[in-house]
Amino acid sequence: MPYGGVLERYSALLDLPAHTRPVTLLEGNTPLIPARRLANALGGDFELYIKYEGLNPTGSFKDRGMTAALSEAAGRRVQTVICASTGNTAASAAAYAARAGMKSIVLIPQGKVAAGKLAGAIAYGAQVLQVEGSFDDALRLVVAICEKHPIALVNSINPYRIEGQKTAAFEICDALGRAPDWLCLPVGNAGNITAYWAGFKQYHHRHALNLPRLLGVQAQGAAPLVLGHPVEHPETVATAIRIGRPARGQQALQAAKESGGRIIAVSDDAILHAQRQLAALEGIWVEPASAAGLAGLAHEIASGRLDPRGQSIVIVCTGHGLKDPDIITNLIPEPLRVPPELHALEKAILS
Ligand SMILES: *Cc1c(COP(=O)(O)O)cnc(C)c1O
Repeated sequence: MPYGGVLERYSALLDLPAHTRPVTLLEGNTPLIPARRLANALGGDFELYIKYEGLNPTGSFKDRGMTAALSEAAGRRVQTVICASTGNTAASAAAYAARAGMKSIVLIPQGKVAAGKLAGAIAYGAQVLQVEGSFDDALRLVVAICEKHPIALVNSINPYRIEGQKTAAFEICDALGRAPDWLCLPVGNAGNITAYWAGFKQYHHRHALNLPRLLGVQAQGAAPLVLGHPVEHPETVATAIRIGRPARGQQALQAAKESGGRIIAVSDDAILHAQRQLAALEGIWVEPASAAGLAGLAHEIASGRLDPRGQSIVIVCTGHGLKDPDIITNLIPEPLRVPPELHALEKAILS
């Protein structure tokens, strides 16, 4: 049978209403890539895998939840969907809305969205509006407008988004034959960590599998769950997690605690270092937020708070590097120029 996307593959495990009408781009089924060189760089002697979610149809894990949210909305004959977004939700909502023949509206925080994400949302035909404020302001506005008008909200406060995103946990367990000992992932609005935990618990009950510990990772400049209070002006290079008031913050804290894990914060430098390591050691280029899971794991190992020996550890890399090319190109000088002559090339690469 041809592969049919996450709703078809895991239909029995997802709590979606009967009216749901599938809208899919055959998302999910992303690779779980063994990362031996990276494990060695972290001290070795454990199994490390990258769940590479950047390989979803619009370049981030958001597609797993979006196929569920748009399928439910399509079944109710909704005409218009709306979301607030730091970028990836916008691109995903716009793509699935196009597929469903619906209109999409996305609200982004002014001037704080990576080029590849904005381009995606526009390419898929969304009406894109910049809110003169933060992501949290944008989210407040979309919630308010959906209470007044027949527009469907597709942010991760939409419960079907969580249902769809659980499938990443199922895929990891199916690939490993068990759950990992640790799962490390970035935390922004906290929908993803909530969904993973729900998914792992479901497999735990259904197939008597072990449960992983969760290591949720925020950026130091946007770490409300570590600080214990909202952050008014979140700042980080990791734009996908530049969120000061996570909608599912309490659930994220609960999930981390229940799992025996925790939520920590790492610096932007550590995130950018992890981004370079993933690319240079494993050939996996991710956007900065997506490297937070690795940055967090490295931090915990270095500080002796996590002993990886003999463990199986999965790092979730949430989005593709192509989403945010400026981060790389702004950091490097223009490539060296050489005249079109062999001796010049030899001089450039051999000296
Ligand atoms: C949305 C997103 C996150 C954060 O996920 P939450 O569910 O908001 O915690 C992390 N990385 C990328 C690439 C994202 O698009």
